[in-house]
Amino acid sequence: MAAMIIDGKAISAQINSETAEMTAKLKAQGVTPGLAVILVGNDPASQVYVRNKVRTCEELGFESRKITMSEDVTTADVIREIEKLNNDPAIHGILVQSPPPPQIDEAALIDAISPDKDADCFNERNVGRVLIGHRDGVKPCTPWGVMELLKRSGISLSGKHAVVIGRSNIVGKPLAAMLMQKSRDANATVTVVHSGTKNLAEIVRQADVVIAAIGKANFVTADMVKEGAVVIDVGINRVFNPETGKSKLTGDVDFESVKEVASAITPVPGGVGPMTIAMLMRNTVDAAARTLK
Ligand code: NAD
Repeated sequence: MAAMIIDGKAISAQINSETAEMTAKLKAQGVTPGLAVILVGNDPASQVYVRNKVRTCEELGFESRKITMSEDVTTADVIREIEKLNNDPAIHGILVQSPPPPQIDEAALIDAISPDKDADCFNERNVGRVLIGHRDGVKPCTPWGVMELLKRSGISLSGKHAVVIGRSNIVGKPLAAMLMQKSRDANATVTVVHSGTKNLAEIVRQADVVIAAIGKANFVTADMVKEGAVVIDVGINRVFNPETGKSKLTGDVDFESVKEVASAITPVPGGVGPMTIAMLMRNTVDAAARTLK
């Protein structure tokens, strides 16, 4: 039986409309949520991501601030901009679009952002809070987006075996922490597999929920997925099609074959991608609301 397609566009639209309502209420109390995005250099994909973030801010009624810096700036130059934003009461969320040019120390930038304005949830304090299951505060956008997709699709995780493929600091590790929390919407048994795992396919085949975040197009094939498993595809890979001469966005999951064995699956595009921006906006509005407490 073909899988249910989990519609990340529709679910993110629902989250954004809740965020717009929260924004209107905050504005009535004199606080306009403000998100600042720093873009260093000319990476074309980064420019698209930043444009989408600024556009979503406008749609939701936020103040958005785009700071564009040239390709040859130093880490200290970017930190100076971050410090201005840290001290600006109109700004509640700050992020530096990744990846910055190679001379920039990205970890130093993450450290420089005030933990209270860390809209991406990359800061050590905030990552630590996610690990210990802190309920309030900022959450990592992509992992949180995955959790919301599952919850709002009525898929329970409690007692299920979730296998996360990939151990990055922005997706795999924090997602594993969120999936295993002792809470109503989590409570999964979690295995993380990665480039050092020996019998990866065998472990993935045991999963009730598979989450792929590796950055390798069509890596997860139908033979690696148990009949009836839920499959969430975080991957975004640009694959060149010589027939059309264009590149196409492709996930880490071989969607066409896996949808025949899975019970539910996210598409790429239109799955996890729009959720990441929706959760970034929610982090910002939540940070703005905390300034009233
Ligand atoms: P990353 O490159 O930082 O990490 C990739 C992880 O995959 C590593 O932990 C590595 O061990 C593992 N890996 C790589 N090759 C492997 C293999 N052959 N077998 C097993 N494990 C392997 O990547 P990331 O930042 O976590 O991103 C992963 C993917 O998700 C990318 O395609 C990225 O574009 C995408 N992404 C999407 C969103 C979104 O909003 N949808 C957000 C972040 C990342």
